[in-house]
This record gives sequence, C-alpha cells and structure tokens, in this order.
Amino acid sequence: MKSIRLFLFFSISIFAKSSCSLPSNIQALSIKSGISALKNYPDIRRNYHSLKGLCVHLIGFNEGRIHWRMLLVTNPKHSHGLFWYLPHDNENSAFTTAVYAVKKYGGGFLAVAGRGGRYFQGQDPNRNFSMSHKRVCSKQKAPSPIYTKVVFSIIDTYKRRGMPYLALHNNTNKGGVSILKDSTSTKSFLAYPKKRVLAGRGLADEDSIVYIAGSSKKPPMSKVNALLRSGLNVKYEFVNRSNNDCSMSNYIVLQKRTNKYYNIEAQHGKSSTQEEMVDRLVNHIIRRK
Ligand SMILES: [Zn+2]
Repeated sequence: MKSIRLFLFFSISIFAKSSCSLPSNIQALSIKSGISALKNYPDIRRNYHSLKGLCVHLIGFNEGRIHWRMLLVTNPKHSHGLFWYLPHDNENSAFTTAVYAVKKYGGGFLAVAGRGGRYFQGQDPNRNFSMSHKRVCSKQKAPSPIYTKVVFSIIDTYKRRGMPYLALHNNTNKGGVSILKDSTSTKSFLAYPKKRVLAGRGLADEDSIVYIAGSSKKPPMSKVNALLRSGLNVKYEFVNRSNNDCSMSNYIVLQKRTNKYYNIEAQHGKSSTQEEMVDRLVNHIIRRK
C-alpha cells in the first residue's frame, strides 16, 4: 500500500513538474517560478487564489538600459492554443481577464511586470515593436530588436498555428480610446444603437471594443459583421509603413504580414465585461477556423 502511494505521489510530482517545465528557448530567460516566489508582484498578489493550478514564471532579459520583466502564465493541462499579450502593467482588469481566459480555454499569456505603470522603465511596451537596429517610431526610446524577438518567440511558442495574435488592454472611461471616436487610421463599427452605447453599460459601452487591423484601407466587412453579430463593438485599424507606431498590431500587419490579430479593450475595473468579450471572441475565432 505504502509503495503504491509512494509511486503515485512520485508520478504525480513528476507530472506536475514536467507540466510547468519550459521549452529550452524560454527556460534560458526564466528567473523565478511559482506564485509563492513571485507574490511581491502586485498582479500575482491580487490574483493569488485564481492563479493556483496555473504555471507562472518570471521572465527577464536586458536590452540597452531596460531590464525587462514579464510574467508568463500557462495552463499546465493545455499550454498551447490561444495566447494573449498584455503590455501595460497598470491595466489590472486585463490581467484578471487573462487568468480567466487561460483557465477556461487553455493556452497562456505574457504580461509586462513592472511597478504597475503603463510605461516600463520609461518605455511604452506597446510602442516598442521593431526588429530594426535603428529607432523607427517616435515613441520608441531606443532600438528594440531583442524585445521584439523575445516577445514574439514566446508568443509563437505557445500560440497554436493558425490561431490569431491576441492582446488585452484597459482604457479610461470616455478617454482617448472610444468606439465613438475615429481617427485617420481607424474606423469604428457599433454593435448597438448609439443610445445604448452612450448609456455606457457592459458590452455596449463606448470603451468595450475589439480592435482588428489590416493593411487594406477597406475594412474586412465579413469579419466586422461577424463580430458585430457577436455583440462586440469593432474598431478597424488601417496600418501602413508611414503610420507605423511600433505597436503590436502594426508589427503583426507589417512584419508578420497577417491580419490575424484581435485586441480586447475594456474600461479599467470592468473585468466581468472583458471576460464576456473573451467568451464571445473565442467563439468567433473557433467558428471561423
Ligand atoms: Zn494598454
């Protein structure tokens, strides 16, 4: 009896260990693992109980003066599949939503982990995508080929082939990002009557937006309409070399040459709305497979 229990314990512990083990390319970047070793990070502290059972690693690498730190979270049962990127450490509801998504759908996410600010050591992580050895965007403080290569090597390790690139963000109530505001490079599509959007609740809120992107000036209307039918407000971003801002969406369109990209934006504090958006977007992605 004792030997059976010992055997079970041993095989379970081997399984538990190997299920959170990292591929060698990522292992070399790992600084610490496990939620108890990482509980000084506010994201970990805030989500401590819901992170139990997931694999959590602190990833670190240097580029120029920046010592990047990121949390890599994966589902030990299904680590490959959907994979999310969270560049802004102040967007706490996005982190909570990412934990929800990984527990429910498998896969993982990578989140910049600094002092809880939008900027990491002076750099906006979502204006830092370029493989060039020169600065190419005004909001890029220095060239960033290492950052770009590492982030995409992690994403491409866990993202199943054919799956889109995914990001999660939070925005401020009636701030610069809104489905009611267009710019020269974006076009907005409302999933609800304007009156309901203005009422500002849940999925209809002007801050609840799924961003898509592409290199054509014409929005991909079949995709737009499918998302609208799912009850998601949609913003299409038209990307070309002259308006490249070194954000992730721009890099994916220009360098990865694909429009398989979705970013779910919801207002700060609205994680239940953002989780509902994840459910609807994942259903949309599965249907279009
Ligand atoms: Zn953001």
